[in-house]
Amino acid sequence: MNNSDLMDKIVALCKRRGFIFQSSEIYGGLNGAWDYGPLGAELKRNVKTAWWQAVVHFHDDVVGLDASILMHPTTWKASGHTDNFTDVLVDCKKCKRRFRQDHLKGKCPDCGSTEFTEPRAFNLMLKTNVGAMEDSSSVVYLRPETAQGIFVNFANVEDATHRKLPFGIAQIGKSFRNEITPGNFTFRTREFEQMEIEYFCRPSEAPDKYKEWIQARFNWYIDLGMRKENLQLREHGKEELAHYAAGCTDVEYKFPFGWSELEGIANRTDYDLRQHSQFSGKDLQYQDPVTNEKFYPYVIEPSGGCDRATLAFLVDAYHEEQVNDQTRVVMKFHHKLAPIKVAVLPLLKKNEGIVALAKKIKGDLQKDIVCVYDDTAAIGKLYRRQDEVGTFFCVTVDVQSLEDQQVTVRHRDTMKQDRVSLDGLKQYLQDNFS
Ligand code: ATP
Repeated sequence: MNNSDLMDKIVALCKRRGFIFQSSEIYGGLNGAWDYGPLGAELKRNVKTAWWQAVVHFHDDVVGLDASILMHPTTWKASGHTDNFTDVLVDCKKCKRRFRQDHLKGKCPDCGSTEFTEPRAFNLMLKTNVGAMEDSSSVVYLRPETAQGIFVNFANVEDATHRKLPFGIAQIGKSFRNEITPGNFTFRTREFEQMEIEYFCRPSEAPDKYKEWIQARFNWYIDLGMRKENLQLREHGKEELAHYAAGCTDVEYKFPFGWSELEGIANRTDYDLRQHSQFSGKDLQYQDPVTNEKFYPYVIEPSGGCDRATLAFLVDAYHEEQVNDQTRVVMKFHHKLAPIKVAVLPLLKKNEGIVALAKKIKGDLQKDIVCVYDDTAAIGKLYRRQDEVGTFFCVTVDVQSLEDQQVTVRHRDTMKQDRVSLDGLKQYLQDNFS
């Protein structure tokens, strides 16, 4: 299967099975925006929960935050976004299509022309107005990153939690960028969700913390089942670094369209807190409780995209296998990410006893495990449908179950079937999530 076929198949599966739909499709769609359907909403939620658990709940030195999307406009002056958050764009003189200059390789990918307009800077922030007046005093921006909500709350969190360095603040939330060329499905969109950590530390600790976070973030993807051969770290060259940054490394995934960034981990030095101190007039320095020395903490920033991670997990999970001359499509999600963990299926939907027992089993399991009941097709077809959305186990109730209180449990990846007694079913499933 070539790479463009693979991407087409994933996009088609996402639509057919309700993972991802085009935004406002009935009106012809809106470029750069996507909607997560019933299964996509579960999958993306699982990605966010796994991230929050790994970086907040499992780290004694990281706390969470949920800052607002709209912020005081001076925030973006201080961060540099108002003046510098630009891409350089050019228009093809022949077909009039617009491109990011850094994405072009000499000629227009659409019509082949080599004639372009003069390059010009284009600010990627989306503007809106707050309040009743639509003048320059009411302009605010939809945040282009969640990070600044963390920096402006640094002192609040420090005071409220009595944290001592080093400590981190993590948040997940929507960000907006008026991308010139959104594309590659959900990889580059104009509205997306970020998962960001700002980890504050002493300047002398920063190089070690930078390395630790790179490894921790790389391992997070592996721990959630992503294949190691599809992941790599790429350290930025000096010419790629922002003027204040002391280092940046990307976690990249081998998408069907090439190696591309999932997440960046940067050593941002003390730039952000300094800038916000200067623009707000508030002292955002940290005071050492022992020596009373005051200084601006350095910050290590692991900054990932939730939609990009979700897309990478979808691509990585996609498998086709030949089973009895038929192609079995199976999404081999890690059990923490699978949108549905268990499907309870009655072998005969006209047998009232079987249906009642299957529904009772579903009712018992759902208190602890995300599961569904399905009787809309014959069992072979139901198995295939569940494989295609990555359901970890199918539990089948048959005539025999009514007599011996046992059911058949089918494992998604191996298709192995076990007969399991009902009183030990939940335990069996929980033991076999791996
Ligand atoms: P790129 O070079 O791909 O434009 P970036 O380096 O500008 O990305 P950052 O500003 O470092 O990206 O943002 C951190 C993370 O947010 C990225 O690693 C990515 O996962 C996610 N992200 C950024 N822009 C987008 C977008 N337009 N659509 C989806 N996710 C995005």
